[in-house]
Amino acid sequence: MDLTQLLKYQDTDAKLFSIEQKLVASPHKKKANELALLAKKAQTKSTELENEANNVLKEIDELKNNFNQNKKSLDSLLKKELDSLSMEELDKLSTLKGKILSNLNSLEKMLQKSAEKINSILVEFNKTKKMYDSAKAQFEECKAKIQEETKMLEPEKEKLKKELLELEKAVNPKLMEEYKKRRNDNIFPVIVSLEGKNFCGRCRMELPMAAISKINDTGVITCEHCKRLVYKK
Ligand SMILES: [Zn+2]
Repeated sequence: MDLTQLLKYQDTDAKLFSIEQKLVASPHKKKANELALLAKKAQTKSTELENEANNVLKEIDELKNNFNQNKKSLDSLLKKELDSLSMEELDKLSTLKGKILSNLNSLEKMLQKSAEKINSILVEFNKTKKMYDSAKAQFEECKAKIQEETKMLEPEKEKLKKELLELEKAVNPKLMEEYKKRRNDNIFPVIVSLEGKNFCGRCRMELPMAAISKINDTGVITCEHCKRLVYKK
């Protein structure tokens, strides 16, 4: 089988492949991926902080309720007519008063702690928001640069694609199909020559003699290791 046309096709395709690789390997693309990841992390963190803040706010509500109940009990105690009470009752009352006061005291401390917690969550939240905004802005910049790069290379890509369409006409359709299958899987070069008597010219793996014996009939065989088409020069 004459492979000259396919090899010619591959030569032109190599230029297209190299442009594609250039775009894939663009540092802006890598940076954009990193930034997207960073933005996502910041978003997750924001949600976590929001949940945490909601929990603390609930805690504060409970503490306030508790505080108000204690305060009410204290007020009603203070209103009692002490003259009519026995010594025993007065003692009880005084103990109760002490208990309520200490409750109020510790509740106040807890409330203060919760307020501090809310503040630090807020600080962290603002920090995270800033991080997100900056990542987002940088991401947009990167995206614009990638678009610019893509646009700049587009005319050359189109030209090569047109050339390939012309070259394709001279290639055996079945062979072309096999070529394109591999090309779509990002295998390049697709077709390589045999190295020595029985080695793949790309990955250098040894090809089975049974396959080698077919190469004269079929023109190409597939390397089982790297899936490339192998031909004999
Ligand atoms: Zn191989």
